[in-house]
Amino acid sequence: MNDVNLRHSSRRRFIAAAGLGATVAFMPRLLFAQKKGIVPTMIDAAAQAKIETHPLRRGISVLEGSGGNIAVLTGKDGKLLIDSGFTVSKARIVEALNDQSADPITQLINTHWHVDHTDGNDWVHSAGAAITAHVNTKKHLSTSTRVEGWQYTFPPSPAGALPAAVFDDELRVHHNNTSIALKYYGPAHTDSDISVVFEDADVIHVGDTWWNGIYPFIDYSTGGSIDGMIRATERNLSVITDKTIVIPGHGQVANKAALAEFRDMLTTIRNNVTVLKKQGKSLDETIAAKPTAAYDAKWGQFLITPAFFVTLVYSGV
Ligand SMILES: [Zn+2]
Repeated sequence: MNDVNLRHSSRRRFIAAAGLGATVAFMPRLLFAQKKGIVPTMIDAAAQAKIETHPLRRGISVLEGSGGNIAVLTGKDGKLLIDSGFTVSKARIVEALNDQSADPITQLINTHWHVDHTDGNDWVHSAGAAITAHVNTKKHLSTSTRVEGWQYTFPPSPAGALPAAVFDDELRVHHNNTSIALKYYGPAHTDSDISVVFEDADVIHVGDTWWNGIYPFIDYSTGGSIDGMIRATERNLSVITDKTIVIPGHGQVANKAALAEFRDMLTTIRNNVTVLKKQGKSLDETIAAKPTAAYDAKWGQFLITPAFFVTLVYSGV
């Protein structure tokens, strides 16, 4: 799959940039303090990636290859986008959108404030889109915001990138004869995450509450936590059926069974790390005990290495 190729090629670039050998997956957390940080690595990956279009159903598709997964709803009211990827991908995103239809972009919804989901907001707004998001997405984009886990401080976004419409808990949008339900998770991956449900199509975009096949990043700097991630995943599982198409923030579009596997991975690792921390083990000792070992081959092969994921979980238990 192209997705897997992208992951592997990104990882090779990451290793090359870091000047490290093939044991990168088991390096200590200080890996992330090296010169080439996570944010530049994500931008480089987006700059080189093809944009893959995955048609789903009822005029909904997913564009993969520029940061987070971008969902698209086409129709006579114009295109509605969920998330805007990285600006470096603009030309290829425009090409992929034009391949679907000539409709202009008229609406953009952000699943949360992170740069790999909002960096393209400014150009998408300039192209004609009104932007909608949770109130905390606007708050974080409006000011200088530090993400400690990425060792990166984001400057305030330009005015055009800010959501014009914000909400606290729930919002319903009607667009292209489709009912779209937006709902806040509460603190989860950040404090700004929402789910977006295309009700007629039975398709849900769950943003970065799910990384399919990849250990997730959790942004404690802006309100995320391991328990919040698990709560959000439980809610996702409670509102979908085996027929629902689930769009993760990162990784391949999948279904309830795959999401349940993610929930099981999160809860098992959370419990393993909790036991070690309660025994008085330091972070380094906890990493050395490999509480993620059973999952690393499947989940630990991209940006968030096993050691880094243990660091994120350890902070929250
Ligand atoms: Zn995110």
